Amino acid sequence: MYKVYLKPGKEESLKRFHPWIFSGAISRIDGEPEEGEVVEVYTAQKEFIAEGHFQIGSIAVRVLSFEQEPIDYDFWKRRLVIAYQMRQCIGVASNPTSDTYRLVHGEGDNLPGLVIDIYAKTAVIQAHSAGMHLERMNIAEALSEVMEGKIENIYYKSETTLPFKADLFPENGFLKGGSNDNIAQENGLKFHVDWLKGQKTGFFVDQRENRALLERYARNRSVLNMFCYTGGFSFYAMRGGAKLVHSVDSSAKAIELTKQNVELNFPGDPRHEAFAEDAFKYLDRMGNQYDLIILDPPAFAKHKDALRNALQGYRKLNAKAFEKIKPGGLLFTFSCSQVVTKDNFRTTVFTAAAMSGRKVRILHQLTQPADHPINIYHPEGEYLKGLVLYVE
Ligand code: SAH
Repeated sequence: MYKVYLKPGKEESLKRFHPWIFSGAISRIDGEPEEGEVVEVYTAQKEFIAEGHFQIGSIAVRVLSFEQEPIDYDFWKRRLVIAYQMRQCIGVASNPTSDTYRLVHGEGDNLPGLVIDIYAKTAVIQAHSAGMHLERMNIAEALSEVMEGKIENIYYKSETTLPFKADLFPENGFLKGGSNDNIAQENGLKFHVDWLKGQKTGFFVDQRENRALLERYARNRSVLNMFCYTGGFSFYAMRGGAKLVHSVDSSAKAIELTKQNVELNFPGDPRHEAFAEDAFKYLDRMGNQYDLIILDPPAFAKHKDALRNALQGYRKLNAKAFEKIKPGGLLFTFSCSQVVTKDNFRTTVFTAAAMSGRKVRILHQLTQPADHPINIYHPEGEYLKGLVLYVE
């Protein structure tokens, strides 16, 4: 097996089980591993410390194990069993009103580079590293065995998540089954999951609990669901008794799906309207009719270098909402950028509030749900941040 040797002292983070090895920490590699191959990692003193998937880029090795063990079918099966048991333990794996959850959350499940979401009888596998891409058939096979009787289809969806340079040419498609039934349920609400073309694995599973919280506050409110994607927050607002719900997204396809999903749950309900429009333009032209606004934008910063611009984006966006929201209004505001910390986000929203001169109180501080666990040794895994604000 290929051996990667670290520079002196660079093993410290690995001793604390951090799962990434940056290229700058490596002194030399025995041989020339291909991207995605498993390599063993040794300290400068030539002691084994970890093994993982090799990749060219800033993160050179994603650690799979801190022990010397074969990365084979049994390895994937053992890890998937652990992930599945945890979801059973927290009650998401067999819930009669929600058949949607995340089964594998990358580093949070000690499987860096791998995401698996469950939508009713279909599992969607997404690889974020070359190594996980190469192992997809083994993983799918192990998944079938672990989830026997629970899932019938496995869809692989990695065309947009893998590094282009690696020449992997991933093709989205079914690895098992191939059902067209794409309706899943979350807290008793139904929605179509577009795993063929939709964003991420087809739905944003991570907002489940935050949507449920919104439902509690929606009664008699005029709701703006900005960056609605397939309308998740909108149906909860409708079930919660909102007076009207406007869903906005710049993607016409997303708006189409939102309309279909509203029809699925509240056929012909006149309270809902959807608009395909840019968020900033809509916020500029809208009046002050809303007293509940949701801002759930895409990750403005994907890399550290983009942080400053991203924070500016969040500031402008939130400032517009503070300017227009009715007195006594509620703002649900989110950031899903991994590089934006909780403090960064809070300071940015604070600045936006101060710019508007409104009196603002924090009612809730939100995060990702338990099926998106954070590996305690990998704090970077805490990516979803939200604030619920009361605006006087
Ligand atoms: N709130 C959604 C997830 C939002 S994902 C849910 O609960 O499922 C972010 C969405 O923002 C995507 O659907 C994307 O199409 C949309 N988007 C990106 N840039 C935008 C812009 N400038 N204006 C409006 N929508 C935008």
